[in-house]
Amino acid sequence: MSDPVLSAIAGNMARIRDRIASAALRAGRNPEAVTLVAVSKTNPSEAVLAALATGQRHFGENRVQEAQAKFPALREAFPDLRLHIIGGLQTNKARDAVRVADVIETIDRPKLADAIADAMARAERRPLLLVQVNVGDEPQKSGIPTAEADDFIQACQARFGAGLAGLMCIPPAEGDPAPHFDWLAERAARHGLGIVSMGMSGDFETAIAHGATHVRVGSAIFGARG
Ligand SMILES: *Cc1c(COP(=O)(O)O)cnc(C)c1O
Repeated sequence: MSDPVLSAIAGNMARIRDRIASAALRAGRNPEAVTLVAVSKTNPSEAVLAALATGQRHFGENRVQEAQAKFPALREAFPDLRLHIIGGLQTNKARDAVRVADVIETIDRPKLADAIADAMARAERRPLLLVQVNVGDEPQKSGIPTAEADDFIQACQARFGAGLAGLMCIPPAEGDPAPHFDWLAERAARHGLGIVSMGMSGDFETAIAHGATHVRVGSAIFGARG
């Protein structure tokens, strides 16, 4: 990455933090109640380092393999960094995900919950877990269908206790995301879950207005992905 690209990251971080704080204040919320997860997928470690230099600590990666390639070395230099796995997980990646992640945001079916429980029993690590809900019930999207969400959330709470920490969604690309954000925040409250992960580069301010505690922002920080 060229120097201009890397220095743009610091400016982008500052702008996104400002926009998060303004959105929170407009909604009558404490800006510190919103955690920015910088989505670094497809970007090299030097881009992550540029964000770390600004004080950013939460990062998101879609693919476990890419996370394993980038984050162990970064974690050694920055022990307080927090890695979120935000991409769909195959059960055969559960053990690697448990080893590398601090938060796994994409628990979306019983078989994956089984594999994660098994992996956590073997490993020393217990990442926080979020249930991903397919809020638009879109056939091509991962996430537990809305009609099955309550039962699945309760089953995960029974199994993981406080390790089941919240809910995550990616609303449909078309249309107003606000009703979906409301739905997710309401479900999290109903189940006593503190983390509501929703909102990306295009809609994080709307998500904050509708109760997001974690926003996942990639391209607005690191630039368009190639
Ligand atoms: C890539 C990705 C993001 C970030 O998307 P941007 O539009 O680049 O901000 C957020 N959440 C998930 C699950 C993603 O895959």
